[in-house]
Amino acid sequence: MKDTVSLVTGGSRGIGRAISVALAEQGSHVYVNYRSGEAAAKETVALCEQAGGSADIIGFDVADSESVDGAIQTIKEKSGKIDVLVNNAGMSKDGLFIRMKDEDWHTTLSTNLHGAFYVARAVSKLMMKARTGSIVNISSVVGEMGNVGQAPYVTSKAGLIGLTKAMARELASRGVTVNAITPGFIDTEMTAALDEKLKEEHLKAIPLGRYGKAEEVAALVAFLASPQSKYITGQVVGINGGMYM
Ligand code: NAP
Repeated sequence: MKDTVSLVTGGSRGIGRAISVALAEQGSHVYVNYRSGEAAAKETVALCEQAGGSADIIGFDVADSESVDGAIQTIKEKSGKIDVLVNNAGMSKDGLFIRMKDEDWHTTLSTNLHGAFYVARAVSKLMMKARTGSIVNISSVVGEMGNVGQAPYVTSKAGLIGLTKAMARELASRGVTVNAITPGFIDTEMTAALDEKLKEEHLKAIPLGRYGKAEEVAALVAFLASPQSKYITGQVVGINGGMYM
């Protein structure tokens, strides 16, 4: 992936950090996006450099379409192109849906679904002109199978699968591939926040008997972002220890 440019949203920690490092290892120059964690994003850049690659931070809120357009313009001016986009930024406001507050519903959808749309729309214009590009959307296994207490999150991740397929069809003729991956439970700050009882329940449902690692997810994304996967588009690839087949 030498001489390519990648943008990873929410690259400051967790899965996004591992993806940034994996792409940098493959030789891509990585723009590490964050919303509030600038220091963490700088740590990701340092890890990319330790891995022999190069990276820059770029702060913007994916849920703010004007900021998104401005940031993509900045990358265009600095690097001239974006070859790989990983829509990874995500969050969850959990609770039973009958008690869900309007604000929590909207915040989750705005970040996970509308955010991915804003960034993909802006980046796709550059990719279409270049007649090449790879977009990987980070959905979730719960977008395929549902989950109790996560209605907005589940809805946003299921929506992301629909967006992936719609985009894949529209962009294929321009050489741009679009795929989604659906991780199961992966060890990150997001899952560390879950209560112990719930974690034990999860483990019972995972045939491989453990949570996944961010690096395992990153390896899949690096493949889908690489030239080796150019005949794969519109697909939803599971990485979940077998919890959903
Ligand atoms: P995480 O550790 O909570 O990290 C979330 C990242 O998203 C952070 O870098 C955060 O940046 C960024 N972010 C959040 N809202 C943002 C916004 N509005 N604009 C820009 N950046 C924003 O999460 P994770 O566990 O690594 O998850 C990464 C992705 O994988 C998410 O889409 C998540 O839904 C998905 N996923 C995770 C799991 C899992 O088990 N962990 C399973 C399936 C899918 P700041 O710190 O700067 O806010």
